[in-house]
Amino acid sequence: MNIALTAHDAKKELMVQFCIAYCGILSRHNLCATGTTGKLVADATGLNIHRFLSGTQGGDQQIAARIACNEIDLLLFFRDSMQTQTQEPFDKNLLRLCDVHNIPVATNIATAEVLIHGLERGDLDWREIVKL
Ligand code: PGA
Repeated sequence: MNIALTAHDAKKELMVQFCIAYCGILSRHNLCATGTTGKLVADATGLNIHRFLSGTQGGDQQIAARIACNEIDLLLFFRDSMQTQTQEPFDKNLLRLCDVHNIPVATNIATAEVLIHGLERGDLDWREIVKL
């Protein structure tokens, strides 16, 4: 499965901790991420992560483009909803595209835990079938 990771600044440490905890599962999949999130996670875990540009330079839009092409099977997007984000229109677009293409998406760690366990159990295997 192709898994995309991105996290707002206030949630990056949480993303790193999440990826450390689920390193074993994540290592069996293709990972990509926005620039800074990807670097922090790769440095902390040693996971092989394809890094796009940083979010401010358009990395989230690179992920959005892959979602639009049905190339992402799971998006983990840890949002900081406590802050006004200048990036908000892009964030909304990312989530909208997940809805358009039926991509499982987690915007907080609680949902991410459910999805990662589901992924491990095979609950997302249907993604391989719809791509055939
Ligand atoms: P980053 O992008 O991982 O490059 O910081 C995400 C964001 O813009 O918050």
